[in-house]
Amino acid sequence: MVRLPMMTELLRQLFKKPATNAFPARYLPPSVTTFLHKVALGEAAINPPMPVPPKFRGKITYDRESCIGCQLCLKVCPAHAIEFLPTTKRVRIYVAQCIFCSQCNDICPKDCLHMTDEFLLATENRFADCQIVE
Ligand code: SF4
Ligand code: SF4
Repeated sequence: MVRLPMMTELLRQLFKKPATNAFPARYLPPSVTTFLHKVALGEAAINPPMPVPPKFRGKITYDRESCIGCQLCLKVCPAHAIEFLPTTKRVRIYVAQCIFCSQCNDICPKDCLHMTDEFLLATENRFADCQIVE
């Protein structure tokens, strides 16, 4: 015999909105790669992702004008995702290598580094312009 609490839960789930987000398309396209190429060409639109929670740690931003080249960010980066550029005394961040820990952000004395809401970062080329922050 089915218990009453279970029936209640079954009915609740039946009428509840899905907790997951259909992304990038509302319905699975025959080929996700073809679909994404169409999105890039403006021939299709993605189903928007869920809003990110507060304090989300997405793609890093860098204010190179305020940077003093102290290299503290390099010292704390556990992923070795930051390179020091001796000629300009500035840094380069490899997003594909970053693990989004935010330690560089926390230690920077000039507040040059910040984590953003951006998380759609997948690419076939880890050295593409979108994967390098400098
Ligand atoms: S910690 Fe900040 S100021 Fe120092 S090198 Fe890194 S980004 Fe520049
Ligand atoms: S967020 Fe973490 S992994 Fe990414 S560059 Fe900063 S210290 Fe390195």
